[in-house]
Amino acid sequence: MTSPHAPAPDELAALRRRYRLERERRVRPDGARQYRPTEAEFGYYAADPYAEEAAGREPLHDTVDVAVVGGGFGGILAGARLRQQGVQRVRIVEKGGDFGGTWYWNRYPGIHCDIESHVYLPMLDETGYVPEWKYSPGEEIRRHAVRLAEKYGLRPDALFSTAVTSLTWDEASETWIVATDRGDAFRATYVVTATGTLSEPKLPGIPGIEDFAGHTFHTSRWDYGYTGGTPDGGMKGLAGKRVGIVGTGATGVQVIPMLAEDAGHVYVFQRTPSTVDVRANRRTTAGDVGADRDGWARERRDNYLRIVSGEPAEQDLVADSWTHSAGLLEKLLPSFRRQGDRKAFEAAYEAADASKMNELRGRVERTVTDPDTAERLKPWYRYACKRPTFSDKYYPAFNRGNVTLVDTADTHGIERITEHGVVVGDTAYELDCLIFATGFSVGTSGIHSGKLPVHGRGGTQLLHAWAQRGPRTLHGLTSNGFPNLIQMGSLQNASSVNYTHILDEQAGHAAALVAAAEAAGALVEPSREAESAWVAELAEDAPDHEWFHAECTPGYYNREGRGRPNGPTAYPHGAFAFHALLERWREESIGGILRPRTVRAPAGRWGARGAGLGAWWGVGGGGGRRG
Ligand code: NDP
Repeated sequence: MTSPHAPAPDELAALRRRYRLERERRVRPDGARQYRPTEAEFGYYAADPYAEEAAGREPLHDTVDVAVVGGGFGGILAGARLRQQGVQRVRIVEKGGDFGGTWYWNRYPGIHCDIESHVYLPMLDETGYVPEWKYSPGEEIRRHAVRLAEKYGLRPDALFSTAVTSLTWDEASETWIVATDRGDAFRATYVVTATGTLSEPKLPGIPGIEDFAGHTFHTSRWDYGYTGGTPDGGMKGLAGKRVGIVGTGATGVQVIPMLAEDAGHVYVFQRTPSTVDVRANRRTTAGDVGADRDGWARERRDNYLRIVSGEPAEQDLVADSWTHSAGLLEKLLPSFRRQGDRKAFEAAYEAADASKMNELRGRVERTVTDPDTAERLKPWYRYACKRPTFSDKYYPAFNRGNVTLVDTADTHGIERITEHGVVVGDTAYELDCLIFATGFSVGTSGIHSGKLPVHGRGGTQLLHAWAQRGPRTLHGLTSNGFPNLIQMGSLQNASSVNYTHILDEQAGHAAALVAAAEAAGALVEPSREAESAWVAELAEDAPDHEWFHAECTPGYYNREGRGRPNGPTAYPHGAFAFHALLERWREESIGGILRPRTVRAPAGRWGARGAGLGAWWGVGGGGGRRG
C-alpha cells in the first residue's frame, strides 16, 4: 500500500533543491571551531552542581586488579561483568560525584530516555527490575545505574569527583600506573576505559557570551537552586521570568515544554529544527513485556538490535517510532546490508525518506496553529541527517501565548549576547535566564582526545602510535603496544541507537579477555598483524556514506557540514553481526591475543594459577562467581 505521505513524481527533485538551500543557509566557515568546550574556557558551566563538597582524602598508591575509567553505564557494566568472572578488586574512577555518567549529569526537566526502557536499561534479567514506563524518566535510569553498581559491589573501591590524568604502562611490573587529579598514582593489572562519547558539554562561541549578567547554565548542569522544582517540573523559581533556551536537539525538545509550563515567557532560539516523531509514552506492567519469563529482557533487546541493524526479524517486540523507521537509519549507522541493484536501492530509499519527512512535516502543520511558526519548525533535510527526536508535547508548546520561536538560521545562530540578553538580526531579546541546550563535544573525552595521555610499551603514546596510519585496534578494544588496556567505545567497533546494549557486549568481552589472560597467566595484547587484518576487514566493505552526509544540514554527525572523517570507523555489517563475530572469536580465537607475561604475579593473588583457577575466574564455564 502506498503511504499517504509518498512524494509526488516531480517532488523528489524539488525536495533535493530545497534540502541543498537549507544546508547552504547553515554551513559555517568555522565548522566545529564555532564551539568552545566548557571545561577549557567556562569552568563555571562545567562545575558539578550535584556533588557534595568533595571530602579530602589521602592519595592512593595501592594496587588493584582492574581500573575502570568512567562510572557511567560502560564502566558499571565492565565492573559487573568482571565481578561475574570473579575479579576481586575493580576500581572505578569517575569525574562526577556518583555513578550514572550521562544520567548523573543530565537531570534537566523532562529528561527521559527516548529508547524503550525495557531494552535500554541493562541487566534487567540479572536484577529482576522491570521499568515502570515505556520511556523511563532520567531519575529511574540513574537509580538503575546505582542499583547495578551496588549489586556488583563496585562502590567501596570507587573514586568519585576524580579524573584520571594519565595511564602509564610499567614494563618492570607489567602493571598500569593510573594517575589522577587528586594525586593518586595507583597500579592496576588491567585498565578498561569507558569515558563515553557525549560527555563534555559544549557552548557556542557567540560573541559576548561572557557578558550576560542574568542567570545561565548548560542543560547538563541544571541549576534547580535557581529554577526550583525537579525533573518532573514545578519550577516556581521561573515564575514571571524571561527565559531563553538555545538549541532544539534531543535535549531542547524535552526541556522546552517543561519551561513553557513554568516560565513567564520562553524564547526558543532555533537554528535547525529537529524531526519530532510520535512518543506515546505510557506506564507499563511486567505483563506487557512478558517479564515473567527467564531471559525476557535479553530476548527483547536482541530483537530490537536485530531490527535497528536491518536484520530480518519475525516480530517487532518494541514496535515504536525507532523500529518503524529503522530502514531509514541506514545512513546513520553503517549497518544495513544493501541488496541487489544499488541504484534501485538508493531510489527506493530516497522515496521512503521523503515519505517519512513529509509525514513529520505534516505533523507540525497539523499541530502548530500559527502558520509562520509551523513553517519554521519544519525540518528540511533527509531523515538520518540529524538525530531523530520524539515528543508529543513539543509542538503543542508553541501554541501557548508564553512561547516565542526565534529562528536564527539566516544569521548562523545567535549573533551576539549582551549583558541583558540575546541579539538576533535587528531584535534584542531581554532575558533573566539563558539556558544552553547546545550539546556535547563529540570525541573529545577520554583517550582518543589526547586529554588522557596513554603511554604504552617503551613510553609510546597511543595517539602518536596512531598519528601516521590512523587508529589501529583489534575489534576497537585492544591495541598492540598497550597490553592489558581495553578501550570501550564505538571506534572500529559497532554502534547502535541502543548504546547500552553495545556497552554491555563490550563489557562482557572485556571480562572474557581478562578471565582468559588470568587463566593462562598471560597479557592481553593483539599482534600488529591481527590489528592490520581488522582494519583491512573494516575497510573492505566500508559503506560510502560520505556523499549522503555531504548533502546534510550541518551537525555533529557530519562534522558540521564537512562530511564524515576518512577511514573506516565502525564494523560495516552492523552491531548484530558484530556481536556474533565477537562470540565466535571468543570461542575459537581468544588464545591468539594472549602473550606470555615476563613478570611473575605476586604470590597469593595469582597463587592459585593452574589447577582450579579456571573455576575461580569462570573460564570455560561461562559463569564463574556471581557478584
Ligand atoms: P545537539 O548537539 O543534538 O543539539 C544542539 C542544539 O544546539 C542544536 O539544535 C544546534 O543547532 C543548537 N545550537 C548550537 N549552536 C547554536 C547557536 N550558536 N545558535 C543557535 N543554536 C545553536 O545536543 P543535545 O543535547 O540536544 O543532544 C545531544 C545528543 O545526546 C543527542 O544527539 C543524543 O544522542 C543524546 N540525547 C539522547 C536522549 C535520549 O533520550 N536518548 C535525550 C537527549 C539527548 P544546529 O542543529 O543548527 O547545530
